[in-house]
Amino acid sequence: MTDKELANLIYPNITKTPEDYEKIYPKRDLKEGAVVTRFAPSPTGFVHMGSLLTTLIARKIPDETNGVFILRIEDTDQKRSVENGITGIVDDLNNFDIKIDEGALSETEEIGKYGPYIQSNRKEIYECYAKSLIERGLAYPCFCSAEEIEETRKIQELNKERIGYYGSFAKCRDLSNEERAERIKRGDPYIIRLKSPGVYEKKVVFNDLVRGKIVFPENDLDVVLIKSDGLPIYHFAHVVDDHLMRTTHVLRGEEWLSSVPIHLQLFDILGFELPKFAHLGLVMKIDEETGQKRKLSKRKDKEAAVSYYHEQGIPVEAVKLYLMTIGNSNFEEWLNQNPGRDYNEFKFDFKKMSASGSLFDLEKLINISRNYISRLTAQEVYDNALKYTEEFDKEFYDLLIKYKDYSINMFNIERNQKKPRKDYAKYSDIRPYTWYMFDELFDKEKGEYDWQEIKDIEEIKKILKLYLEKYYNEEDDEQTWFERLKDLSEELGYAREVKDYKENPDKYKGHVGDISMVLRVAMSTKSQTPNLYQIMKLFGKKRIRERLKKIK
Ligand code: GLU
Repeated sequence: MTDKELANLIYPNITKTPEDYEKIYPKRDLKEGAVVTRFAPSPTGFVHMGSLLTTLIARKIPDETNGVFILRIEDTDQKRSVENGITGIVDDLNNFDIKIDEGALSETEEIGKYGPYIQSNRKEIYECYAKSLIERGLAYPCFCSAEEIEETRKIQELNKERIGYYGSFAKCRDLSNEERAERIKRGDPYIIRLKSPGVYEKKVVFNDLVRGKIVFPENDLDVVLIKSDGLPIYHFAHVVDDHLMRTTHVLRGEEWLSSVPIHLQLFDILGFELPKFAHLGLVMKIDEETGQKRKLSKRKDKEAAVSYYHEQGIPVEAVKLYLMTIGNSNFEEWLNQNPGRDYNEFKFDFKKMSASGSLFDLEKLINISRNYISRLTAQEVYDNALKYTEEFDKEFYDLLIKYKDYSINMFNIERNQKKPRKDYAKYSDIRPYTWYMFDELFDKEKGEYDWQEIKDIEEIKKILKLYLEKYYNEEDDEQTWFERLKDLSEELGYAREVKDYKENPDKYKGHVGDISMVLRVAMSTKSQTPNLYQIMKLFGKKRIRERLKKIK
């Protein structure tokens, strides 16, 4: 029986040939130097920060070169796929403003001429290439059971030999086609394996964009190409897809580096042009308990999930800026020299990536975020807060809508100045920092009044009463307003100036700072707020009276 006959026995319904697919997916007509990248997640319903970094770069380089960015869904390991996993990924990318040029848009829709972009819909394509390899004597059906493979592994371990299906361990490699055909007809379960032409003692040289030149032994493993469920294994799908989608640059995690010899071999025997590869280092963190560096973990770290930032209301731009700082060692310097410039104007360089991985520091990200929000206009903060609360805090959203101008003015307090106030690191911080500005929330959310130096409630009431009767004037400018606080202080036996009090503490009950603190706490219950004058100005007479009346 010839190899061709065997191939026909295994794939009788596959009529297309690799040449047909070359025509269906022709070379892309792009400008010289245009880069085609892809993000190729499994639909596990979760995008990891490490993948987001890869994705950002995979989006940025086509942007820099008039290229194409593809979203390909790798769902060939169906056990790992979750329901609506694709939508989850698409939502994460949307939330981060990462647009795709081609690829999956949802579980059922996609865009682009090089699809299908969901691997489980590409079964026929993989089968075509598997068939062609069988025809050429470069692949074969393997009937070994999981138990047999395990048995071989144990023997290899015991004898301290390389683990895997190769050489004399590859039991099905040298079966005759007759025997293969007989077993297939008999209904024995099988998978398709590569008949590796590699020699382990020989070397292959490979140039990684991040790591430079790497020398590997040639692959001699008869790796699985098609599993028992008829779907391909990662290696095979990667090579077929990245060829047919005409990917020029494969950006992926360093966990794939050790498989490169398999991929080089597959590209070679299939006659495919080799794309460029960049294996990106892991994103790590310092473990809180052990103090040791470890991989940022899906399971242990809330900040590993891209959705965390969206849920917290950490601005997308801040996350991107931070990721770029860990992505390229010269980015931070560039940003300092070009404050406020869009990160898209920065030219990404693989050589400035750390091969050993990058350290993720949530504190630093939060800091970048705080600075970022502080530089926005009040209107921008308002718009973003609206977007955030619409999804996560409907009650607060309604208040922001109802009191639009008031809210914008509130966000404007201490904003338009050289060193703007940095209260908010995320949009979810706004409510805890500003609830007292809204009557609807004040009674509900106020706890204890945080009185400071002056705690005696009778004294407090006396101060507030006199203030309202004699010293409060809605029209006052800030200076006059403060002068009047000083007058009030003096009338009640407090020093007009802190310095006077310090020089002669026995002479006074306290000083003007203690008096203004009483006013601040009375307005907000809090001892720390933005500029009190501006808050009171925003409140207006009626609300001020109401707030003071509540002190009993
Ligand atoms: N599905 C693979 C992963 O999630 C993709 C690797 C690649 O980009 O080729 O690791």
